[in-house]
Amino acid sequence: MTAQIIDGKAFAQQLRHRIADHVERLKTEHGLTPGLAVVIVGEDPASQVYVNSKSKQTKEVGMNSFKYELPKDTGEAELLNLIDELNERDDVNGILVQLPVPDHIDADKIIKRISPAKDVDCFTPENVGRLAIGLPGPVSCTPLGSLMLLRDQLGKLEGMNAVIIGRSNLVGKPMSQLLLRDNCTVTVAHSRTKDLPGLCRTADIIVAAVGRPEMIKGDWIKPGATVIDVGINRVDAPEKGEGKTKLVGDVEYAEAAKVAGAITPVPGGVGPMTIACLLANTITTTCLANDLTPPS
Ligand code: NDP
Repeated sequence: MTAQIIDGKAFAQQLRHRIADHVERLKTEHGLTPGLAVVIVGEDPASQVYVNSKSKQTKEVGMNSFKYELPKDTGEAELLNLIDELNERDDVNGILVQLPVPDHIDADKIIKRISPAKDVDCFTPENVGRLAIGLPGPVSCTPLGSLMLLRDQLGKLEGMNAVIIGRSNLVGKPMSQLLLRDNCTVTVAHSRTKDLPGLCRTADIIVAAVGRPEMIKGDWIKPGATVIDVGINRVDAPEKGEGKTKLVGDVEYAEAAKVAGAITPVPGGVGPMTIACLLANTITTTCLANDLTPPS
């Protein structure tokens, strides 16, 4: 058996088209143009790539993009003031501070200062709580993207055994909330879990979010299972030439693809969904701020 490859890049593109349609309706029917503010402190090249990509995609779907590039010696108070200002602005519906911030700035303090109504990353305690008790609001982007791919692949997820490997606030924990909400039977594994291979073999759905290259082996996967590989790991690729590197996931892809029913590749699986979901969250916060029902 060879697994079906889940094309996250194509799905993300379709999602952005649906978001662009929604933005158009908000403009014509309600006179609203959603706006997303992205703040970056310092010159970390990887962060700059992410921020530029976020701004570009924001504009492409017809939203307003506000980009703040601050020098690396920006003080914490100055950053907090900017967030206060953005919290107040009617034309800003989403605020994102690109992490990591330089060491002299307390990232937790910054995140907590963002108004929950504009917290499109779903990092604030208020929004984490809303997700846990099923209230409307933004949803953590990578788990939301993973859920969309799973629903698209499998239809209803009800009754399925889902094993999530990783319990971070960013991925594992919110993923467990989303799958529970979709009536899966959810197990969250972590570094102290006993017999991880055995546990994985019980899973109809595996979500790997560990950050260890190809740790999840092909023979841990139940035949026909759906595998969502969130991991992004850069490893040496001597086969491509001296000093070359490549990206791999947390799943041993070549072997897993022989057993699984469907699997996300790395790159091109979950990764492209994350920014698209950031835009989806900006639609959600815009709707909620204007007493409109957000798209489901
Ligand atoms: P974290 O490092 O915050 O969490 C990793 C989790 O994996 C922890 O819960 C840890 O357990 C668990 N873990 C570590 N080693 C093992 C092990 N040997 N067996 C079982 N569990 C283990 O990572 P993130 O959640 O932030 O990210 C995970 C991966 O996803 C990374 O590769 C990251 O780059 C990628 N990522 C991709 C995104 C995308 O857009 N596609 C977005 C975000 C992340 P414990 O809690 O016990 O320490």
